[in-house]
Amino acid sequence: MNTQVDTVQTLTLLRELLTNYLWVWQDKIQAVFEALPTYTGHPNRSVADLTEQQIDGLSRDALFMARLKEAIDLQRSYLDSAPARRRIAYFSAEFGIHETLPIYSGGLGVLAGDHVKSASDLELPLVAVGLMYRQGYFNQQLNADGWQVERYTDLNMDHTCLSMQLDKQGEPLVVKVPIEDRLVSVRIWVAHVGRTPLYLLDTNVPENNEIDRWITGHLYGGDQDTRIKQEIVLGIGGVRLLTALGLPIETFHMNEGHAAFLTLELLAQKFQSGLNYELAKSAITNSCVFTTHTPVPAGHDAFSHELLLRCLDRFRQDALGISQFELLVLGGRGRFSMTELALNLSRSTNAVAKKHGEVSQRMFTYRKITYVTNGIHHLTWASPEMTQLLDESLSEWRTNPDVFKDADRLDDAALSAAHDQAKKRLVSFINGHNHGVDFEEPILTIGFARRFATYKRGDLIVRALDRLPNEASQRIQLVFAGKSHPRDDGGKQYIQKISNLMAERRTRLVFLENYDMSIARLLISGVDIWMNTPRRPLEASGTSGMKASLNGIPNLSVLDGWWCEGYNGKNGWAVGEDYDGTTDEDEYDAESIARLLSEQILDEFYTNRAAWMRRMKASVATTAFFNTHRMVNQYASEIYRLVPVEAKA
Ligand SMILES: *Cc1c(COP(=O)(O)O)cnc(C)c1O
Repeated sequence: MNTQVDTVQTLTLLRELLTNYLWVWQDKIQAVFEALPTYTGHPNRSVADLTEQQIDGLSRDALFMARLKEAIDLQRSYLDSAPARRRIAYFSAEFGIHETLPIYSGGLGVLAGDHVKSASDLELPLVAVGLMYRQGYFNQQLNADGWQVERYTDLNMDHTCLSMQLDKQGEPLVVKVPIEDRLVSVRIWVAHVGRTPLYLLDTNVPENNEIDRWITGHLYGGDQDTRIKQEIVLGIGGVRLLTALGLPIETFHMNEGHAAFLTLELLAQKFQSGLNYELAKSAITNSCVFTTHTPVPAGHDAFSHELLLRCLDRFRQDALGISQFELLVLGGRGRFSMTELALNLSRSTNAVAKKHGEVSQRMFTYRKITYVTNGIHHLTWASPEMTQLLDESLSEWRTNPDVFKDADRLDDAALSAAHDQAKKRLVSFINGHNHGVDFEEPILTIGFARRFATYKRGDLIVRALDRLPNEASQRIQLVFAGKSHPRDDGGKQYIQKISNLMAERRTRLVFLENYDMSIARLLISGVDIWMNTPRRPLEASGTSGMKASLNGIPNLSVLDGWWCEGYNGKNGWAVGEDYDGTTDEDEYDAESIARLLSEQILDEFYTNRAAWMRRMKASVATTAFFNTHRMVNQYASEIYRLVPVEAKA
């Protein structure tokens, strides 16, 4: 028998899997990495760390090699059917694809990542455009006082699945972006997210000056000056990139106002092709669409006229040929608003949930605002146990999430066992991290994780527990996680307050540091109840609750954002359901949580298993609507107009 094994081939195949992020949501590919002796949750590193001897061992392992070949076949056949002509460009300042690519901060980025993944699965002719942040979003640690400390480190590009975009000569493609009186050079990284290319613009190139090299240094880390330059790189640089690539883009989708400068570059191109300003403007407006995510005016990006003109006046004169007044007025009255710019130059504007649509329409009365309710990419967010259960019980769930409506067919014992496994993983993670608390698996566990901003009221549950008899609060354990924006001291005070409660030990409570997509996966499958307590109407949508639902976890949430549409009386509870705005909102909601816990939830969880299982199955069924396959299909027909929509009267 031949004892020679082809170790080069093994490594080549492993590296082929790493040319695409498909492994993030294809469990059969992920299983290959998990089988590596070096595996730590980071596929790129695990492959890089393999020794010659280990590769030799793997190559002799028939079972491993069979799995590897199966994964390769799966990837190749998936990628075989990529769309030929790319007609839509989706722009976003952040993308949450996987925690090993930390170019997202929270919900907006994760939504963008899920959008791109579903676009890939659905074979939509879409490309995505974002920024490559050298140090990404920060790592969070709490100091001894419970105060958030931000840490930044350079991302090792060898530990990503990114490749450099080359030009026709095989040299790195460079795009020039006009900022102030100079052209800043931008190089392009490509992340293949299944069938969808995600182009990431990066100013860290030697020909730029030191300061410009840091324009794309951090996500949301800089001042206004850095911020506007990032947005110029994203919007103007992004369009120049698509032009350089020769892509026949028909629709430019701005995910939030950050990318709205793309309209100016499109105007410049029309102007250069000889159209006058009015004609150029109407042509652009016809090709742009805008999604707004922020239900408060203060949440919208705006720049002073002085800053805007400092950065873009030269571009205005050279490329746009319009007056300062004409430029400034595109950003509304007062400060130059990126939202107004996007509103002024889009054929459609949509909000991200029904109620958010109503709130946004009241804020921007001069534009019609529709809504497309957010979703989650179910293949990314189902726990391994849930994935297996769904394969067995709702076999079409991967490609056709409509079948989630039949979730009541799930077997109680099997669903319960799947959740127990996920809960065990969470509890051992918590107890293994030496927080000085001992979580217990049988105890009702409530999770709260999201950006710590004051309006999300991270401490409301604690105020609710203060109203319960001691004996009741002993039957609950709480797990928190979330980062605050680096300059949001109010948010940081909430974190500190929670983390100080950990030391008091009245209730079992833990704050997990560095909330990211991996902590999110642990939490949204491992807790028993998912909680969200925003001040109304400040939650545009929220998506973490949808991830919990998918994994059979009922929501306990204020009726705001997606929960206004998601809540049906069976899949969780509505906090402060009848709140009419006349009394103190915090008091009202804390009292409501306390009552729901003592009158319904504790009894049902501990003594009425059948009722609890009905609640879990109703939660899973929620996914039939709240998924990004449905969402992206809706964008395709209503917003991108990709497939003919019925003529409206
Ligand atoms: C899903 C997700 C979010 C968004 O959660 P919200 O409910 O919108 O607050 C934020 N951060 C991470 C890491 C996530 O996975």
